[in-house]
Formats: sequence, structure tokens, C-alpha cells
Amino acid sequence: TVALQEAQREGHAWRVYDPAQHTGPGLEQALATALSNGEFELHYQPVVDDPSGQVVSAEALLRWNSAVHGPQSPAVFIPLLERSGQIVRVGEWVLHEACRAAAGWGGVRVAVNLSALQFASGDLIGTVRSALDSSGLPPEQLELEITESLMMQNPTRTADLLDRLRSLGVGVMLDDFGTGYSSLSYIHHFALSGVKIDREFVRQLDTETRARGQVIIRAVVQICGDLGLKVVAEGIETQAQREVLREMSVSQMQGFLFARPALNWTPASWLPLEH
Ligand code: C2E
Ligand code: MG
Ligand code: MG
Ligand code: MG
Repeated sequence: TVALQEAQREGHAWRVYDPAQHTGPGLEQALATALSNGEFELHYQPVVDDPSGQVVSAEALLRWNSAVHGPQSPAVFIPLLERSGQIVRVGEWVLHEACRAAAGWGGVRVAVNLSALQFASGDLIGTVRSALDSSGLPPEQLELEITESLMMQNPTRTADLLDRLRSLGVGVMLDDFGTGYSSLSYIHHFALSGVKIDREFVRQLDTETRARGQVIIRAVVQICGDLGLKVVAEGIETQAQREVLREMSVSQMQGFLFARPALNWTPASWLPLEH
């Protein structure tokens, strides 16, 4: 306290380290002005057709560089945006920004992640339409990514919105597939264009649990083939994983082996890996 009084007398008590600034409440406060301060960015990570090396799409991944707290992980700030309801407005910004970027990609699709709240509140269809209209992006070049838990929270409303999105021509992928509770027989009631196999199953492919990963992925590939759904694998980090996926006829791949998410990514900056 003596030191603190001294500091106050010197007029720099505000320099005293305040742990509250570096945890939850401080972050939430900073998030409240992040959008208007222009602190959000989109990075893009390609999905590559293997072995042709062609880019089929790129996923927009939200980044927050807080002026006060520095760069923050989506695993931390997206749940906070969801809790405060801000994800609806930020999600609108993401859609507009991603469509605007992809309008210059010469036909490569852009994938945008959606949160449950964007389905539950707000005018999702209106937002999607306006993002397409103002960017001039053809609807076929927009793909939305939803999760199983989003679908399960309000199946009736989700099914209805998915029908409307698909009739606009927009694609819908089921993200992180295999981590939730929905069964393959259940997903067929939703108007999906495909599934993204979660990277947990891909990770299993080059360890002693390889056989287990293969069983799951084979089943997904088989059923998606029967249902006419696309299959993308995410989180490919090693050549071994890539080869096993190829053997299982999974050709659309996304992962650090091919490219890390990057700001200002364009298809023109993409150089295919050697086979
Ligand atoms: P996701 O949609 O499953 O995105 C894939 C995540 O895996 C990304 O993490 C990406 O950087 C990471 N990743 C890609 N390849 C690899 C790899 O080879 N190895 C490893 N270890 N990771 C890889 P990121 O960018 O941290 O995003 C995390 C999650 O945050 C996303 O998971 C998505 O659920 C959510 N998210 C990101 N942007 C948005 C957004 O604009 N809106 C919403 N609602 N959610 C978002
Ligand atoms: Mg995703
Ligand atoms: Mg995913
Ligand atoms: Mg994931």
C-alpha cells in the first residue's frame, strides 16, 4: 500500500497491473467496441482438391486483434460474442466481408461459419440476400457452415431456413461432423450439400487409432455417396493423413499441410503442393 500511495502521488497509479483487464470481463468490454473500431479481420484457408491441386473453396475464419488485449483466439472470443448476442451483428459483417472478397476470386466459393443465434434471431435470409446483392457474388459461390448442435437446438426452424437458403442457391455444409450426437440417418432430413469431417478423425489417421478413424471416415464417405452429399476433410497436417484419405476417396481437403488461414488470401496466391 505504501508503494501504491507513492505511485498515486506520482500520478501513475493507473500503471498498476490489473488482472481483471486480462480476463473475461475486460475482454467482453473490449469486444463491445471491436466491430466499430475495425478490430476484426477475416483470414481465408483453402479447401483443395487432391491430387489435382485445384482450389475448390476457401473458408473465412474470424480474427480479433484487440487494441487493448492483442490477438485473441476464436475459441475464446466467439463464445463471448454468442453470449452477448453480438455474434448476430458480427456475423452480418462476416457475411458481407466474405462475399465482397470472394466476388474477386473468379468462381472459387467462400465458406462462412454460422452460429446458432444467427438462426434463432435476426433475419438470416435477409442478411444473406443483402450480402449477395451488394457484392454481386453468385449464390452458388457462397457456402454456409453449420454444426450439429445448431441443427439440434431448433430442428424445425433450422430445416425451414436451410430449405430457403438452398432454394436461393446457397450451399450448406455440416461442420465438425462426427463430434455431435446426430446420426447419419438424421442429417438426411436437412437440405445439406455436404459434410466436413472433423479434424479429430483425421488426427486419428496417423496414430495407433488409425483403424478407428478409418472405420468412421469410410462409413461417412459411403453414406454421403449414397445421399449425394459432398465430403470435405479438415485438419490435414501430414502427408500420411493425406494418403489415407486419398485411399478412402476423400478428395477435398483442408489443413495446415496445404495452407494455413491467411489474411488477403486469393486463389491467385495459391501454389499447389507437390503430389
Ligand atoms: P471450424 O469452422 O471447424 O474451422 C476450422 C478450424 O480449424 C480453424 O480454427 C482453422 O484455423 C483450424 N485448422 C485448419 N486446418 C488445421 C490443421 O491442419 N490443424 C489444426 N490443428 N487446425 C486447423 P480457428 O480459425 O481457430 O476457428 C475455430 C472455430 O471458430 C471454427 O472452427 C469455427 O467454429 C469458429 N469460427 C471461426 N470464424 C467464425 C465466424 O466467422 N463465425 C462463427 N460463428 N464461428 C467462427
Ligand atoms: Mg468451419
Ligand atoms: Mg470444422
Ligand atoms: Mg472445428
